[in-house]
Amino acid sequence: MTHSHFQSDPGAFQQLFASSPDPAWIIDNNRFVDCNAVAVRALGYASRDELLNLHPSKLSPPIQPDGSESYAKAQSMMAIAKEKGVHRFDWTHAKADGTYFDAEVTLAMVGIGGRQVIYCTWRDITERKKFEASLHESSRRFHDLVVSTDGVVWEGDAITFVFNYVSANAERMLGYPVTDWLKPGFWADHIFVEDRDYAVQYCVACTGRLENHDFEYRFVAKDGRLVWLRDIVRVVEQDGKPRWLRGLMIDITAQKMVEQKMLASQELLRDTARHKQTILDSMADGVITINAEGVIDSFNQAASNIFGYAAREVMGHNIAMLMPEPHRSHHDEYLKQYLNSGKSFEVGHVREVQGQRKDGCLFPISLSVSQLEHAGETTFVGLMRDISQQREDEAEIRRLAYFDSLTGLANRRLLMDRLKQAMLDSARTARHGALMLLDLDHFKLLNDSQGHLTGDLLLQQVAARLTDCVREGDSVARLGGDEFVVLLTGLSATDHEAVIDTESVANKILLAFEPHFELQGYARVSTASIGIVLFMGERETKDELLKKADVAMYQAKAAGRNNARFFDPDMQEMALAQTEFENDLRVGLAQEEFLLHYQVQVDGKGAVTGVEALVRWNHPKRGIVAPAEFIPLAEETGLILPLGQWVLETACLQLAAWATEPRTAQWTMAVNVSSSQFAQADFVAQVDAALRKSGANPWLLKLELTESMLVKDVEDVVIKMTAIKSRGPSFSLDDFGTGYSSLFYLKRLPLAQLKIDQSFVRDLLTDPGDAVIAATIVTLGHSLGYKVIAEGVETLAQRDFLASIGCDAYQGYFFGRPVAADLL
Ligand code: C2E
Ligand code: MG
Ligand code: MG
Repeated sequence: MTHSHFQSDPGAFQQLFASSPDPAWIIDNNRFVDCNAVAVRALGYASRDELLNLHPSKLSPPIQPDGSESYAKAQSMMAIAKEKGVHRFDWTHAKADGTYFDAEVTLAMVGIGGRQVIYCTWRDITERKKFEASLHESSRRFHDLVVSTDGVVWEGDAITFVFNYVSANAERMLGYPVTDWLKPGFWADHIFVEDRDYAVQYCVACTGRLENHDFEYRFVAKDGRLVWLRDIVRVVEQDGKPRWLRGLMIDITAQKMVEQKMLASQELLRDTARHKQTILDSMADGVITINAEGVIDSFNQAASNIFGYAAREVMGHNIAMLMPEPHRSHHDEYLKQYLNSGKSFEVGHVREVQGQRKDGCLFPISLSVSQLEHAGETTFVGLMRDISQQREDEAEIRRLAYFDSLTGLANRRLLMDRLKQAMLDSARTARHGALMLLDLDHFKLLNDSQGHLTGDLLLQQVAARLTDCVREGDSVARLGGDEFVVLLTGLSATDHEAVIDTESVANKILLAFEPHFELQGYARVSTASIGIVLFMGERETKDELLKKADVAMYQAKAAGRNNARFFDPDMQEMALAQTEFENDLRVGLAQEEFLLHYQVQVDGKGAVTGVEALVRWNHPKRGIVAPAEFIPLAEETGLILPLGQWVLETACLQLAAWATEPRTAQWTMAVNVSSSQFAQADFVAQVDAALRKSGANPWLLKLELTESMLVKDVEDVVIKMTAIKSRGPSFSLDDFGTGYSSLFYLKRLPLAQLKIDQSFVRDLLTDPGDAVIAATIVTLGHSLGYKVIAEGVETLAQRDFLASIGCDAYQGYFFGRPVAADLL
C-alpha cells in the first residue's frame, strides 16, 4: 500500500517533523498521512508502514478515562484544533501490545501542498499522572482525628490497691460490672500482662509523692479488647501517711492508634521522601514546592535545568525570585489574597506564565499548581514545563503555513484569508477594495541567465519596494514565482474615486520599479505589469477576482508591459482619462495655461476694499476649467505646490501693479493657500520671496487658510502664521463653519478675519438654522477680536440680513463675479 506523502515543497517542515524529539504524525481526513520514527518506537510498532496502515482509532482504548468514547472525543478535539489552529489536551493512548498510557497531545493545523492537515504531536505523561495521584493520597491520610474522653473516676486503698469506688462509666468503658471492680486484686489482674509490672510499680512509687501522677498502660476489657488507659492519680493522706489514691482513668485508645499510625507514616514518609526525590529528579517536568509563605522547600533537577539555579541556591528563598517583574513584587500579595479568599488564578488550572532564568532572560512556562494540606501546613506543588521550544515550533509551523519563506510576505493561503476578510469588510462598510496582480516582466530571462540566486535577490527587493508603496492596512503577498498581489482596502464608495485612488497606487508601484535593483554588484532594470480588479462586498468569489486580475495583467503585458490595466473596460477608461488629465495638468503648468480672476470684497457701505484671487485653467480643448475640477487632482499629485506658488507670485505682481492707481492702491489681495502648500518647510520664505520680487505692499496681502490644516500640527501652524504676520500679511479663515473648529485652537491662531461659508449664506433667509449659525459665527468672531466677512452673497436681502446680525464685509455675485483684472 502506498501513502500520500508531501507532494509540495515542505522541505523545512519535513525536516522539522522527522527530527522532532517528540512523537508526531499527520492526519488528513481521519487517515494517517505520515508519522515520524519516534512515534513508531513509542507505540511499540515494528515499522512505520505498520502504524500508517492502522485506522487512527486503533491507537486509543475505546473509552477515555473521563468516560467519553475515544472516537467521538477525538473528532471533537480535531474540530477544536481546526477552529483554533492549535489545541492541547490529555489523552489515553493504546500501544501495539494493548497496554495504555497517558499522553499530552497537541494538534496543530498545517497547510501542506495547499491542503489543511492536522499535525499531531504528544508526550508521555504517565509519570506526571502517577505523581499527581500519590500527592492526593498522602493529603487524605491525616484526616479523621476523633478523640473520645469518657473517663472513669475512682478511689482505692493506697496500700492494697483495692477500689472502694468506681464511677458507672467503668462498666460502659471496659465491660466489667462495678461489683467486679471492687474485688481485691481486680485492677492488677486485668492489666495487660506486658504492662502489668510497670503499672503496679509506678503506682507503688507514686504513693511516696503527693503531686499528681499520670501514666499509661493497656487494660484487658471484658470482651478481650486491649484498651489504652491513661490514669491521672492523686495521693490522699491521713495522719501524715498515704491512705487513699484517687484518680481519673481515660480511654486513650483512639489517640494511641493515631499516634502509632503517625509514627509509622512518618517513617514511611522519611523513606518515601528519599524515594520521591529520586522520582522527582528523574521527571522531565520541573516540580517546585513552596509553603504558605511562598518559601521554596523542594526543587527538582528538571526545575534546576529550567531555571538555571541549583536546588541549594533557591531552597529557603521566596519563589518570587523565579518570576519577572511585576509579579516578583506582587507575589506575596497574590499568595495572601489567595489564602484569605481561596480564589486563585493558578491553583487547579494549567496556565501559561513567564519565568525568569538565573541569567535574567524570560521564557514561557506551562504551570499547574496544586495545594496540599498536611498536618495543618499548606504546601503548594507547582508542576512546570519550559515551553519555549514548543512556542517556537508553533510559531515556525504558523510561519511556514502562512508566510512565503523567501520574502517573508504573506503566502497565497494567508492572502486568501485576508481577501475573504476584505470582502466582508467591504460588504459591511460599502467601500471598495482592490486586488492587484503584479507579474515581473521578463523575470524568467533573468532567472535562467543569471541563476536562481540572483532571481531570489530580485524577488526579495521587489517585496520590500512593494511593501513601501502601500498603507498599513493593505497587504502585499507573493503567490509564488514572480507573481505578487497587492490588496487595497477601505477605498472610496464611489467607482470613480476608487478607480482614481487605485490607479495612483499602481502608478506609485510602477514608479517604485524605476530605480535600478542592486543584484550581486550589478545594477539591473526590472519592470512589472499589473492587472487590477475592484471589488465591492461578495459579489464575486475570490477565485473569480484572481482570474479577472490575471486577465487584466495579461492585457497590461500585451499593452507593452511596465503597465497597469483594470479588468473593467469602463474603469480602464476612467483611469486613462485620469492619467490624461494629470498629464494635461503637468503640461498646463509648464505652458502657463493658468490665469487669475478676481472677485471684489466690499465693506458695510458697499465700498470695495479688496479682492480675492481665484485661479482658472484655460484648457486648450475644454476651455475655462473651474478649480473644483482640478484643485483636488493638483493636491493629490503634488502639482498644487508649483501651482500655488505661481498663484501667490502672480497675485503679488497684480497687487504691486494696482499700487500706482489711486482707485486700487488700498485694495487688499486675498490668496487661497491649500494645506499641503502651507505645510511646506519653506512656505514663509516663499511668501517673502513673492513679496520681494513683486515689490507689493506686504500689509495688503491676505492669506486664506482652511480649517483642514488645523488637523495636523497646530503648533507648527501657529509658528508659521506668526512669522508671516510679523512681515505684514494677515490671515482669513475660509469656509468657516464647515470643518474642524475647536474654540481652543481658534483662539490661539493670529487671525484677522473669519469667512462665513457660502453654504450658510445661501439659505440664510429660508433656513432658520443657517441664520442662527451665521449669527453665531459673527458673535464668536467678534468676541475673539476678528472681523467677519460673508461669501456667496447673491441678493440684497441676504446682505441686509447679514448686516442686521453685525457682519463686517461681503463678497459674492451680488457685488461682482470673479473676473479678469482688466474688467474690474
Ligand atoms: P473659496 O476660496 O471659498 O472661493 C469662493 C468660491 O465661491 C469661488 O469659486 C467663487 O467663484 C465662488 N463664489 C463667489 N461668489 C459667489 C456667489 O455669490 N455665489 C456662488 N454660488 N459662488 C460664489 P471658485 O472660483 O470655483 O473656487 C472654488 C474653490 O477653489 C475656492 O473656494 C478655493 O477653495 C479653491 N481655489 C480657487 N483658487 C484657488 C487657488 O489659487 N489656490 C487654492 N489652493 N485654492 C483655490
Ligand atoms: Mg477663498
Ligand atoms: Mg470659501
